[in-house]
Amino acid sequence: MNVIAENVARIREEMARAEAQAGRPEGSVQLLAATKMNGAEQVRAAIAAGVDACGENRVQELVEKNEQSAYTGAPLHFIGHLQKNKAKFLVGVADLIQSVDSPELMAVINRLAEKKGVVQDILIEVNIGGETAKSGILPEQADEMSAKMEEYPNLCLRGFMTIPPIAVENGGNLRYFAKMYQLYVDIKRKKYDNTNIEYLSMGMSDDFADAIKEGTTMIRVGTRIFGARQYVKK
Ligand SMILES: *Cc1c(COP(=O)(O)O)cnc(C)c1O
Repeated sequence: MNVIAENVARIREEMARAEAQAGRPEGSVQLLAATKMNGAEQVRAAIAAGVDACGENRVQELVEKNEQSAYTGAPLHFIGHLQKNKAKFLVGVADLIQSVDSPELMAVINRLAEKKGVVQDILIEVNIGGETAKSGILPEQADEMSAKMEEYPNLCLRGFMTIPPIAVENGGNLRYFAKMYQLYVDIKRKKYDNTNIEYLSMGMSDDFADAIKEGTTMIRVGTRIFGARQYVKK
């Protein structure tokens, strides 16, 4: 078995343990591979190892690897900050855009999807810690923005994504995950038009067991699958 397959197998075991401890059915949480800075070969290895989806952070990188058919066999998600002028590269290409963080971006994606004749699945990114330097809408805005979905027939809101503050201690994000889960459940119950909410995307390499405990449905893991990323200065 290659290293990536071993890593995925170990993560699956830990996921199953966390699901059992939380009293959740095994398999209720999906594993997304955060593939940034990893080449097509590694992405293919992760898909062969059985990850449920791939998530890319940068539009350019997604386009390049997609041209190399890197994502064949797994749904492709976008999880990075999205500028409005780059949305055209993703609509109808990404199965799920997880990082929609403004009403303006929602309107732009809807217009592009209408032109292409598709319905684009999205998540709304919530800045659950209310940090000034982070993208995502504030938790207080999530309900209003979800209700606004009724204006966008070429979008389908599938749920929410969050990146909590960097935890300084073990379990430091439990309260943010719990708050995010409550918000997800409350809005899901309202069944707004053009929504079909079933995804809560939270939890990464260092804290996915805590996210599973608090109700995540999709963890996004990079380092634990691929190893530490090599940041090269350009
Ligand atoms: C890189 C990244 C991840 C994965 O982070 P790791 O700590 O490497 O697991 C998850 N979500 C987003 C949005 C990311 O950019």
